[in-house]
Amino acid sequence: MATTGRSAIIVGAGIGGLATALALQNTGWNVHVIERTGSTAVPGTGLSVWPNGTAALERLGLGERFERISVPVRGGALDLDGRPIMELDPADLRDRYGHGVRMVRREDLTALLAGALAVNTVHRGLPVVHFEPGTPSSTLVLENGGRQHAELVVGADGLNSLVRRALIGDGAPRRSGLTAFRAVCAAGSPDLASVPWGETWGPGAVFGMAPLPGGQTYWYGTISSDEFRSSPLTTLKAMALDRFGHWNSGIAQVIGRTAEEAVMAHELFDRKPEPVWSGRSATLVGDAAHPMLPFLGQGACQALEDAVVLADSLAAAGNVQDGLLAYDAERVPRTSRIVKRSRSMGRLAQLQRPRLRTARNSVLRILPRGLRLKQLDGVLGPAARPE
Ligand SMILES: Cc1cc2nc3c(=O)[nH]c(=O)nc-3n(C[C@H](O)[C@H](O)[C@H](O)COP(=O)(O)OP(=O)(O)OC[C@H]3O[C@@H](n4cnc5c(N)ncnc54)[C@H](O)[C@@H]3O)c2cc1C
Repeated sequence: MATTGRSAIIVGAGIGGLATALALQNTGWNVHVIERTGSTAVPGTGLSVWPNGTAALERLGLGERFERISVPVRGGALDLDGRPIMELDPADLRDRYGHGVRMVRREDLTALLAGALAVNTVHRGLPVVHFEPGTPSSTLVLENGGRQHAELVVGADGLNSLVRRALIGDGAPRRSGLTAFRAVCAAGSPDLASVPWGETWGPGAVFGMAPLPGGQTYWYGTISSDEFRSSPLTTLKAMALDRFGHWNSGIAQVIGRTAEEAVMAHELFDRKPEPVWSGRSATLVGDAAHPMLPFLGQGACQALEDAVVLADSLAAAGNVQDGLLAYDAERVPRTSRIVKRSRSMGRLAQLQRPRLRTARNSVLRILPRGLRLKQLDGVLGPAARPE
């Protein structure tokens, strides 16, 4: 793995690492991505890409190709009877933010990003076991004993980032007390035309469904981790069916038609935002920098924004250190707000008490459309710089 010129090494080939590699290559960097897993397979789930994520993909030169591998969806929340609580009209989103919301299979987005990189950029099956930030270069130690130095190291190594540990050292991520089921139902069916697309807000839990290309359906549901752990049921599919199936027949159909092995469940974490991410020659992107709960569908979208802003900041600065200072100054405040809003959105969506839920639904239903959209400005609006 030879590095010449302006050299960067990125740890992690998830969406954040691949997008950052592409953004840096597009601005003249010599980039290598080091990934611990040997395979390119990523767990089969869907991803909602909001207007800011699509804008970032356009900046990476992938706008048209992304459109071809994704489908548009209508965002919104429903009550248990399938009545809208809060609707997001795609035309309104397009008018205000330039794009609607699109759904993509996670593996397709990852393949799109990886396919746009120069050959031999990604090196797989190489776990990084140690990271030493330094000046003028930082050092990575690989499990195979190899040492790599680069003028810039980017930690795109996810929730339990080793690079973050050396740069910030803020310990383990924060438990949310929630567990998410996720799956792709590969079986398309005419009956699915009657399912409640969007997110259903039930007592203490949410269940979302969205179409994917090829007639597939992505679904997810969140419940408290205590409830998850105490379930007497032995399979994830049975647990999901038991918890959400009675909410409405469309949900029961979709879970029922999902292959047992396609259902996965993960505990959800985030981190308390930190004021600084970067050292003199190293920084963080994506979940390594700002893991967030999934209730705004922004984790990957923010990782895409990180990539664009990092490359722009470095291109505009005279040296790496100044570029990283500018990157932190732009990205830390924005992502910190979104981490907090994702938490609040989760609380709002998962209210338990019937009276509170009724009050919430009534307030949200009478909220004027303009005000509802204005509330999204902080997430999707002008601060989402890629344009
Ligand atoms: C239930 C759920 C639903 C979500 N839905 C959405 C959504 O709809 N829209 C959206 O925008 N976001 C969503 N997200 C968030 C999104 O999935 C993440 O924010 C995004 O995938 C983070 O990408 P990343 O590249 O930063 O991290 P990861 O995807 O975690 O990638 C990190 C990579 O680093 C590698 N790695 C780790 N350690 C090392 C090491 N020591 N050496 C080498 N390699 C290493 C890992 O193997 C991995 O490949 C959701 C998240 C969850 C949990």
